This record gives sequence, C-alpha cells and structure tokens, in this order.
Amino acid sequence: MDDVLREALEPVLRDLARAGHVAPVFDSTDWMSDDEYAATMMWSSDGTGSSVSVRRSAPLVERVVQAADGVQEWAIEGELWSAGRTNWPPCPRHPANHPLEATLVRGAAVWVCPTDQAEIAAIGEA
Ligand SMILES: [Zn+2]
Repeated sequence: MDDVLREALEPVLRDLARAGHVAPVFDSTDWMSDDEYAATMMWSSDGTGSSVSVRRSAPLVERVVQAADGVQEWAIEGELWSAGRTNWPPCPRHPANHPLEATLVRGAAVWVCPTDQAEIAAIGEA
C-alpha cells in the first residue's frame, strides 16, 4: 500500500481495533489511477468490498479524515451491517441514534457528534 494512504489509515485502524472490530483486508489495487489520489480497496471476510482514497497533497490531518470516512463506511456497510449494528464509532451522547462523524476541527482530525457537533475524541484516540 502507498505510504501516503498507510499513514492516513493508521489512526482510524487503531480505533477500529480498540472497538474490537476486525480490520479490513487491503489490496493493492489503485482503482482511481489518478496521480492526485492514493486509493485502495478494503475487503471484509464475507467478500464485501469498499473503496478508500486520500488526496496526496492534503495535509495529514485531512487525509486522516478522508481515510476515517472510508473505513467507517466499510465498517458500517460490511461487518456491522451483517451483525445488525450500524453505528461505529457509536456516539456516546446518542448511542442508539448515530455513529460519530470524522471531521476537521481547528486543524485536528476528530470524531464529532453529527447532531450537536460535540467533539468526542481525536481520530486514533477513540
Ligand atoms: Zn450524537
């Protein structure tokens, strides 16, 4: 995998592991074939595939948010959907309602509540 992508994925994969979820299997397919982006596919054990991409020229914090978005989508649509759970990472303020949202806040990559924008945790520290 591209280092630009690996570096961006590292914090969100840490959060995923801490929550007890199995990490996706990445393959080396750069499906975008666009020099501006680093991209790859993520696969679940059940064969569900999802894509993730980051803009090469973006600062690391922005790439972390882009990567977190992709991994979250993979997690929600793949592993968790089949398990009947669709909220990772769960919002501690509204655990039954929605997952947190990966956002850039004052130059940091954080998980926020999508309803009241409360900052819950840094991505990689959730
Ligand atoms: Zn919330």
